[in-house]
Parts: sequence; structure tokens; C-alpha cells
Amino acid sequence: QNFIIAIDGFSSCGKSTVAKSLAKKLHFVFIDSGAMYRAVTLYFLRNDIDLKDVEAVNRALDEIHIDFVPNTDKTQVFLNDEDVSDEIRTMYVSDMVSEVSAIKEVRRAMVAQQQRLGKRRNIVMDGRDIGTTVFPDADLKIFMTASPSVRAERRYAELMAKGETITMEEVVENLAHRDHIDSTREESPLRQAADAFVLDNSDLTQEEQLQIVLEEYKK
Ligand code: C5P
Repeated sequence: QNFIIAIDGFSSCGKSTVAKSLAKKLHFVFIDSGAMYRAVTLYFLRNDIDLKDVEAVNRALDEIHIDFVPNTDKTQVFLNDEDVSDEIRTMYVSDMVSEVSAIKEVRRAMVAQQQRLGKRRNIVMDGRDIGTTVFPDADLKIFMTASPSVRAERRYAELMAKGETITMEEVVENLAHRDHIDSTREESPLRQAADAFVLDNSDLTQEEQLQIVLEEYKK
């Protein structure tokens, strides 16, 4: 029987950092579901897809093929065989990703692929609806939170390190914008699963977070 760990929470709560270190420690496969929505968004932007045109959306989804190549330090994401790992992290994509992710057809296609990725292997998947919609029977569910200022500072540092020209205000705005759309959309909105373990990491080091989650895993 395979083991599934679902990690959900708002943007920039440190989900992927915990997910990655946990997967490494347990020798599980780490799957970043947000990267899938980002890759779809990149395709939509490049091809100028009208988000309100259901037929165009469905046609685009038929054309999109997403692959993951897990490496030791980072996961590579391929969109139709092109490595888009860096491009999907730009503000260009971040600014649109929540609108694209709110489209019912997009969610259904991604959820189906995520469920296939979790068949017959041990995984750690992070996202917004993993413990509620994708794997409601996940063996361990973590819901991560952090204070808004901690989240904004983390995100800002991340983007600056990548050389993006951005202000703190823009970062705060983008986070608030995505949180709002993610938690109010009709199809599988961001929710805390009733049986999730809540981890507030505002004042915890990465090592402390890993230890806490490992304790939960062993229970
Ligand atoms: O996790 P990350 O911030 O990279 O996700 C980017 C966006 O993708 C989120 O803001 C959200 O709109 C969407 N997303 C989602 N459901 C998931 C994962 C991500 O709607 N399971």
C-alpha cells in the first residue's frame, strides 16, 4: 500500500520547502501541484487563450502535456517537452495563475493527472486542495500557515534572488490577490481539511518544521 502526504496552505507559507525535505528524508516522490497550474498558465499566456472561452480552454488542455523530472535539489517541469522550470516562477505567470486555476475544466484535468501521479508510489504533494479534493483519503495531511508579514518577506527575498524587479507592495498585493481567488473560487477552493495537522511555521526553522512533521508521520 502506498503512502500519501498532502500539504496545503496559502501562497508562500513554505509548503514546498517542507514537502521537499520530507520527500528527501522518506525517499518519497515530491510533486509540486502548483507547478502544474503554472505550466498551464504559461501555455495560456503564450497562446493568448481567452479564459472565458470554454472550447478554447478545452482545446488548449488537450494540447498540454506536463512532465516532472525529480532531481536531488530541484524538480524540473516540462511543458510539451520544453523545460519551463524557471519561467513558471516569474511574476508574469504568478499574476495570472490564480485566474487560470479557478477554471473548472483546468482543475478537473489537473486533479485527474495528480491522482494518476499518486498511484502505486509514495508521494508528498503540495498545493491548495490536495487533502480535500485530490486525495481526501491521504494518510497524512498538513495544513501550513504563517503570518502575512513572514510570507511576504519570504516571497520578496525569493524573487529578488532571481533578479526580478519588484517592490514589497507588489508582492503583498500578489499574495493577497491569489489567496482571495484561491479561497473563493467555486471548484475545490482552498480549505483546511478537518483532519489536517496545522503547522504554523512563522517562528520555526526548516529543521524544526521537518522534525515536527516527521513526528506526525510516525504516529
Ligand atoms: O503553489 P504555488 O504558489 O506555486 O501555486 C500557484 C497557484 O496555483 C496558486 O496561487 C493557486 O492559484 C494555484 N494552485 C491551485 N491548486 C493547487 C496548487 C496551486 O489552485 N493544488
